[in-house]
Amino acid sequence: MEIVEADVAIVGAGGAGLRAAIALAQTDPTLKIALISKVYPMRSHTCAAEGGAAGVIKKDDSLALHFDDTVGGGDWLSDQDCVEYFVNEAPKELLQLEHWGCPWNREEDGSVAVRPFGGMKKQRTWFAADKSGFHILHTLFQTTLQFPTITRYDEYFALDLLVDEGRCQGLTAMEMKSGMIKQFNAKSVIICGGGAGRMFPFTTNGAIKTGDGMALAYRAGVPLKDMEFVQYHPTGLPNTGSLLTEACRGEGGVMLNKNGRRYLQDYGMGPETPLGKPQLKTMELGPRDRVSQAYWHEVQKGNTVTTPWGECVLLDMRHLGEKYIDERLPLVRELAIAYLGVDIVKDPVPIRPVVHYMMGGISTNTKAATELPGLFAAGECACVSLNGANRLGSNSLTELLVFGKAAALSAIAHAKSVGPANKAALKAQADASQARIRELFLRTDGKESMSGLRKEMMDTMEKNCGLYRTEAGLQEAVNKIVELRQRYNKVVLHDKSNVFNTDLFQVLELGSMLDCASALTVGALARKESRGAHQRLDYVERDDKNYLRHSMAYYQGQDTARIEYLDVVITKSPPGVRDYSGDHK
Ligand SMILES: Cc1cc2nc3c(=O)[nH]c(=O)nc-3n(C[C@H](O)[C@H](O)[C@H](O)COP(=O)(O)OP(=O)(O)OC[C@H]3O[C@@H](n4cnc5c(N)ncnc54)[C@H](O)[C@@H]3O)c2cc1C
Repeated sequence: MEIVEADVAIVGAGGAGLRAAIALAQTDPTLKIALISKVYPMRSHTCAAEGGAAGVIKKDDSLALHFDDTVGGGDWLSDQDCVEYFVNEAPKELLQLEHWGCPWNREEDGSVAVRPFGGMKKQRTWFAADKSGFHILHTLFQTTLQFPTITRYDEYFALDLLVDEGRCQGLTAMEMKSGMIKQFNAKSVIICGGGAGRMFPFTTNGAIKTGDGMALAYRAGVPLKDMEFVQYHPTGLPNTGSLLTEACRGEGGVMLNKNGRRYLQDYGMGPETPLGKPQLKTMELGPRDRVSQAYWHEVQKGNTVTTPWGECVLLDMRHLGEKYIDERLPLVRELAIAYLGVDIVKDPVPIRPVVHYMMGGISTNTKAATELPGLFAAGECACVSLNGANRLGSNSLTELLVFGKAAALSAIAHAKSVGPANKAALKAQADASQARIRELFLRTDGKESMSGLRKEMMDTMEKNCGLYRTEAGLQEAVNKIVELRQRYNKVVLHDKSNVFNTDLFQVLELGSMLDCASALTVGALARKESRGAHQRLDYVERDDKNYLRHSMAYYQGQDTARIEYLDVVITKSPPGVRDYSGDHK
């Protein structure tokens, strides 16, 4: 097996991975950096982000307000030392992107433009039309090109971490075009593998978001934190799940039920305000958990529109006018026409909540370090405890930058502190990783199909782990995932070739998703309260006495995850009432 020697290896070349790579290369030009990604970097999900990235920039705003919005939006499950660090670093990172060439939209006077976003009581979301992620990722990618110390391994699939002497020292990854497995020895490893929304059938997430990065760390003994918190975005196209960005509402779009009523005023997000652009009052700019949950109640009341793709509410942007829509929301217009045949300039578009984002992930501290020395994580795969029980829209893109950089700085400090590796031990582990894959190829007696198991997993997650959950439903989900993880051991490969074996990669991805689903379902069953995105019909109140704590899921092989709890860091904002009834100025 070929061995690659690196100082730092990064798994994932989305926003977090690229930001980390740049920080590594800039901080220490002598480092050898291996950047490993199962897709070409520009195909990472960050590219699909539409609405923008949050950071305080305007005079009427303050770091304290961004802090308050994030902590309240997260239903007090965010670690407040982390939020403080984040809001402080956010504007610096967004300005840095500007200097690297990110084409932010402008105000008339040439200053950076911002737009309102849900749960943010001031305008602070920087944007580039409704293709913000595309421009951010391009900016980062082109910046990495100037550093000869970054070696890219595009279309390499990470398989297993190498852990020896109690620290992470590298990983194995398969070159997808040849099927060759390589051993990457690295003093530090940073996981930036993205989210896991593909556990669910109806999601905005690209096909690559299968939680591989989370599963890598989890299987190596690192806990997954707060996995039960799954974000539904309120405005997905009902047939494909494609996202219509929150910027639709930020720019003034309104949500109507079948009677034409702006129903959010009935759920503590009023009062109704005149149509304007941009929309400055709360209403449609409530936080995502609340807005999505209101949809569920409208369904119960029979106030929704029945479509061939299920019950929907309507997103109306007609009053914004064609010129404004084409300037600010061109992609949204294109998506609605292409996938639903609805021109938002002329008609309201039917929408429904769709799985969008994992608040939970690899447990890290504020410096992006995990419990396992030498292993760091950043981006959506990580849970640094910024987002708590509900992420505010536009905080994620900034999170990639702030904590991608933090992970890099921590990884450098660790790399400089460690002694030589026991190469024989690492090689033995790499051989074991290769043997695991070979066993899959040799398996002939199994009856299970990858697609069959995947469908059963998705159906279970949708039925039992959606917007509202119950004890019985969650127990059913836990049992089902236990069963599916056992049956997974009998999956057979239909394609035994070495060249771009997509059958193999989908089997591996299914394994990652089942591990994530195990942590998610067990965590959700154990959390007997309603907080943020985790709503239980049988425990309807938030319970700070018992559950103002992070859940920490530990891998137990074939057994269900073991859940422990960790206190939330509260520095200055004691748990309070989330109020979205007032003005957004
Ligand atoms: C449609 C959409 C719109 C969004 N809009 C916004 C927005 O406007 N504002 C906002 O703040 N957030 C938004 N989000 C959320 C945000 O975009 C994501 O949370 C964020 O981009 C994730 O970035 P990342 O770097 O963590 O992961 P990704 O960009 O998903 O990258 C993951 C990387 O990991 C690699 N990888 C994964 N598994 C493996 C493996 N086994 N081996 C090797 N490599 C692997 C992939 O190749 C990829 O390079 C949006 C999300 C979606 C889906």
